[in-house]
Amino acid sequence: MGERPTRIPVIAVIGYKESGKTTVIEGLTSRLTERGYSVATAKHIDQKGFRIDKEGKDTWRHAASGANPVIAVSDVETAVIHRRGLGALNLRSLLGLIPKADLLILEGFSKIVLGDKHIGKIVCVRTLREYEDFRRRIRGEALAFCSLETLGEPILSVKENLSTLTERAIEYVERRKSILEILDSLPNLDCGKCQYRRCERLAEAIHDGRAKLDDCVLIKVRPKLKTRITLNGVEVHINPFISEIVRRSVLGMISTLKGVEIRGDETLQIEISQKK
Ligand code: SF4
Repeated sequence: MGERPTRIPVIAVIGYKESGKTTVIEGLTSRLTERGYSVATAKHIDQKGFRIDKEGKDTWRHAASGANPVIAVSDVETAVIHRRGLGALNLRSLLGLIPKADLLILEGFSKIVLGDKHIGKIVCVRTLREYEDFRRRIRGEALAFCSLETLGEPILSVKENLSTLTERAIEYVERRKSILEILDSLPNLDCGKCQYRRCERLAEAIHDGRAKLDDCVLIKVRPKLKTRITLNGVEVHINPFISEIVRRSVLGMISTLKGVEIRGDETLQIEISQKK
């Protein structure tokens, strides 16, 4: 798992077998969809060699002959079967398989989820010992610990506290959505020049009302830059050093052209496109 923020908020429901993960996901998904959220889910099937396809079926034969992916369409469902499992996937490529959703809920994937601070975690535990163990191993936000058993505070009861779980999930999703939107307005270069060092940290501070967009050094200096580069209509953020290198290099090259005299204060526009 990388450390880049995910494109949409991701919540993972993790825990050992029979700890109530699917029950929590069922409850959360139905409540969130009732509130208008579009929810995608993904489940890690912890069974070596498991295939959704069945040997000998037409789709299996398509895949065996080299097709990848294989798409099976019936009158009620469409299944896209990719011939790559967990070893070849990471969370970001999994998100690439989801065209549009407000959030992704994962069931399982503990090994890769525990250390990813960009994922909100709901941890299902069966005993107090499991609770202590997960608490030590989790990095990033634990939205809740919950159990099918009554283990007492701060462990929520899956049966009685589903509303609390839902509220915490919604609060997390709304916060992440807002931070990701702010991040879209930042250069996303992690240049380390502002006091927050990374763009996501500044986005969090802006969300919390502790900072503003022009605390980003690159945004602040943008009006003073003498070079502006746009790629396919989108401005490319550059720092003053690169701006000056580009300005001098391009003007230097242009000055060698016959009949061109450069004074250093001209406005120059170059458009590069591939005409068909
Ligand atoms: S100065 Fe801007 S681009 Fe650089 S880390 Fe801070 S927010 Fe990101």
